[in-house]
Amino acid sequence: MESIGVEGEYEKLKAIFLPFITPSHLVPVVDIARIFAMHGVDVTIITTPANAAVFQSSIDRDASRGRSIRTHLVKLPHVPGLPEGVETINATTSKDTGGKLFEALNKTIQTQFQQLFHQYKPDFLVSDMFYTWSVDAAAELGIPRLIYVGGTYFAHCAMDSLERFEPHKKVESDDESFLIPGLPYNMEMTRSQIPVRFKKTDDPFSYLMKMVKESEKRSHGSLFKSFYAFEGAYEELYRKITGTKSWNVGPISSWVNQDASDKGSRGHGKEVEEGKGKVGWLAWLNSKQKGSVVYVCFGSMNSFSATQITEIAQGLEDCGHDFIWVVRKIDEDESRVLVEEFEKRVEGNKKGYLIWGWAPQLLILDHPAVGGVVTHCGMNTVIETVDAGLPMVTWPLFAEQFFNERLLVDVLKIAVPVGATEWKSWSEFGDEIVEREKIAKAISLLMAGEECEKLRRRVKALSDEAKKAIQIGGSSYNSLKDVIQEMKSLKLEKLKKPVT
Ligand code: UDP
Repeated sequence: MESIGVEGEYEKLKAIFLPFITPSHLVPVVDIARIFAMHGVDVTIITTPANAAVFQSSIDRDASRGRSIRTHLVKLPHVPGLPEGVETINATTSKDTGGKLFEALNKTIQTQFQQLFHQYKPDFLVSDMFYTWSVDAAAELGIPRLIYVGGTYFAHCAMDSLERFEPHKKVESDDESFLIPGLPYNMEMTRSQIPVRFKKTDDPFSYLMKMVKESEKRSHGSLFKSFYAFEGAYEELYRKITGTKSWNVGPISSWVNQDASDKGSRGHGKEVEEGKGKVGWLAWLNSKQKGSVVYVCFGSMNSFSATQITEIAQGLEDCGHDFIWVVRKIDEDESRVLVEEFEKRVEGNKKGYLIWGWAPQLLILDHPAVGGVVTHCGMNTVIETVDAGLPMVTWPLFAEQFFNERLLVDVLKIAVPVGATEWKSWSEFGDEIVEREKIAKAISLLMAGEECEKLRRRVKALSDEAKKAIQIGGSSYNSLKDVIQEMKSLKLEKLKKPVT
């Protein structure tokens, strides 16, 4: 038996990051990878060409800043029935294609990924929660696996309580409210607002989430992207109920995207055509009064029926405030014609501005003319909006968004609910139509009056805390330093182990 010389060796950490293929998982995992590189870790991100195209310009900029970071491309294998060139799950992906992509990733590409682990010899792995297989791959290599968990600690605590106590099974109807036990506040929900997996055990997502939880328990720890002042009580509760280690390293988007070029090109930003022949969004915002514009965006996965789109358009026109509305690509003729006519009208009278497809969200949230946000409560947008110090109208749609709404409205009191009551799958319209009156009323409360002042004060205080969290000595800064130090200690232990 002999011992390896380890002087200095353990300081140099090498990590592999595995982001998932939906924009809202890809974007934060890449941002976290970039934060690790910013703090001296050698980072390799493994993904497919179309997904890399979404973030490569940021990686190139980081590399030119002297950071040790790169992308390794892996071609997505052909799976029967999967259209050529489709590598991302987003609002336009059908359930069937989503399933095929998942199959390609989890069955076939896994082998290629694992070969790369042997080639790069990382000291640790950071995997998206949906690559459950990577927990075994890390164990085989004898290295720690950190798991990126999407969503708030708050939502995960609430979902854990639903699993344990099943309060939703003790009510008579879908719209009767029940208490979610075991949380620091009396959280009430209705059965219609909770994800389908709690109601149908044969839901495929229910099985996947069980695997995710199982793989989280077997990981070294988890990474979250919020910050202590935002949901500290739930961060502590989460650790207690799951018995896992976790590090909260947010808000990541402002931490790593510090200049306008980073902010503007994030996600599909480079595809945004400034203006398309009309005045650009920036010039339009520059012409508006401070805090006067409401920004309306439902993330990257939403789809609405023609009736719902009509109600949104009318609600925006009726609310009396200027707005930017981000509209996803619309295939149905009926909805598209309607929105195009609406666009002409509101841009003519300078009341509104429509962005088709992808908005440079970080830049818009930073603009002084923006005074509030209508959001579907996707976790990334929530944190970015709080970081920007803007109050919200909450309009949850799917995933864990109804839980996030409760945190924003009841606990932090920085948002006004639009009054949505129906959870739906991301690929479905659902039955509920939120009417124009509700939309206009919620925006009016958000943008003016006594309540608005209170919301703005509270969210400004949280925004200040968000800024402190990522400064030297701040909670997320310390958290990042801790996890890096822990990875170094594990490496040192391994290096010191006698070779048999
Ligand atoms: N995003 C953006 N422009 C868009 C839509 C989304 O920059 O037009 C970014 C947004 O800043 C956030 C992410 O994409 O970082 C969306 O994630 P979120 O969790 O808010 O919603 P999801 O897409 O999962 O529904």
